[in-house]
Parts: sequence; structure tokens; C-alpha cells
Amino acid sequence: MLDNLDVLAGKVADLIISAQKVVVFTGAGISTESGIPDFRSPGGIWERFNPDDFTYAKFIDDPEVRRKHWQMLMDGIAREAKPNAAHYAVGELHKLGKLDCVVTQNVDNLHQKGGVPDSKVFELHGSMRWAVCLRCGERYPMEQVRIRLDAGEQTPDCTACHGVLKPDVIMFGEPLPELVLEEASYRATACDLLIVVGSSLVVYPAASVPARAVRARARLVIINLSPTPMDGQASVLIRAKAGETMSKVIQLVRQKIPRG
Ligand code: NAD
Repeated sequence: MLDNLDVLAGKVADLIISAQKVVVFTGAGISTESGIPDFRSPGGIWERFNPDDFTYAKFIDDPEVRRKHWQMLMDGIAREAKPNAAHYAVGELHKLGKLDCVVTQNVDNLHQKGGVPDSKVFELHGSMRWAVCLRCGERYPMEQVRIRLDAGEQTPDCTACHGVLKPDVIMFGEPLPELVLEEASYRATACDLLIVVGSSLVVYPAASVPARAVRARARLVIINLSPTPMDGQASVLIRAKAGETMSKVIQLVRQKIPRG
């Protein structure tokens, strides 16, 4: 007898094959199997750090908050990591010509490393690839900043003008990049299948993207370990790990896809 995950993965594969435009919406949960903790799961980042400290205003005003912020990012979200099976499966969807785009809340660059071209990845919360000077706008590759942090600097500044250097990610209290959100919302409205992988769907406005897809009558698939507020709207709901699930799904898509 087929086990439940096989049956559900088969349903997702069928939805992918019959869809014209597939959008994959991801959150921190797709990267936990790469060793990057999420925010809210047991052992997540909010067990070690206080979310109230991580606002844009405090980052600007308080060097101690700035120090903690860099530490949280470098030990947590921006730790060295490789894509896992779920990222590679999304990359494979692209290779099979079945991916319209990825809309991600993640800042870890693992979708691109997993084979999705940059032009198809909409990063709603920015990216840890760069740090930017808030005074003169100079941009620094994060590898350069990491070397300075590893050498003992706690709040790296701009080497050109000594302004405050900020990772190019969206902090609490900052607006999302308008054009990225607009394009992501448009893609969600135009797709006929949206697959959520590893998101609690409680962070707004990011979570408005799958909501838009559903309003526009797209089918919704949710692959997430814990419940989300949109579970009731999903055509297929899978409470299992992203890596194993997405590997099964892509294997079935490969088997079932009609060859031209
Ligand atoms: P979240 O922490 O709120 O939720 C993550 C969800 O993923 C949880 O519901 C959890 O049950 C699920 N999950 C954890 N591991 C999983 C796995 N292996 N398979 C399937 N599901 C799994 O994260 P969120 O919804 O993305 O939103 C929070 C914010 O976290 C976003 O703003 C994002 O920018 C930021 N963030 C990003 C990273 C990253 O870039 N990797 C890491 C931590 C936080």
C-alpha cells in the first residue's frame, strides 16, 4: 500500500503537471534542513534573541542592538549553508519548464544556489549577499564584511565614509521593496498553482502573496511542519519535511510529465 506522503506527493505532482503557471512561495522552513534555524520552531532564532530588539529604528540608534543584530544574522540566517533537497527540487522544476517564479521570504540565497536563476527569485525581505552603507550608499559583498566580523569587528562601518553598514535585508519597521512586492503579487494573481514550502504564513505583508493567489482562484498546496492560517484553503496539505516531500514530488513529476 502507498503511504500517505506518496499519495499526497502524487496529488501535488498532478497539480504541477496540469498547471500553466506555478509559483513557489517559501519561508525559513525550507532552509532548516540546510542547518539555518527558522524563527518560530523549537530551537528557532526567537528562543535565543528577543524579536523586539530587531527593529530598523533600534539598529540605527543603538550600537549594542547593532552588535546583536550582526551576531544573530551571522550565527543564524547567514551561516554558511548549502541548498538541500527541497531547494534542488525547486531548481529542477525550473529545468523542467514548470516554474514561473519563486517568491521567498528568505535572505539566504539558497534558491539561486539550488538552480533557480536570479531573474526568477523575488526576495521579499532582501538578501544577505550585500551590506549597504546608510550614509553614502556604498555596497559591500557580504563575504568582505564576514571577514571583518570574524577578525573581531562587532559593528562594521563603511570603509569609505564611516557611515552605519546594514545588511541588505528588511528589518522590522522597514517597508518591503515596493517593486519586488508588486511583481510578486502580480505573479501570484496570474498563477494557477501556488506551492507554499516552509512558511508559517503569519508574517505580513509577505503572507498576502499566497492569499492573493487564492483570491484569484489558483490552487494552493501547503508543505509545512506546523499549522498555518491558510491550511483550510489548501487543495493539498502536507505536514512533512520539505526536503523529503519536494524530492518525492519532483520524482513523480519527472515520471508523469509527458515527453515532447
Ligand atoms: P517562520 O519561522 O515563521 O516559520 C517557518 C515554518 O517552517 C514553521 O511553520 C515550521 O513549522 C516550518 N518548518 C520548519 N522546518 C521545516 C521543514 N524542514 N519542512 C517543512 N516545514 C518546516 O518563518 P517564515 O514564515 O519564513 O517567516 C519569518 C521570517 O523569517 C521571514 O521574515 C524571513 O525573512 C525570516 N527568516 C529567514 C531565514 C532564511 O533566510 N533562511 C531564516 C530565519 C528567518
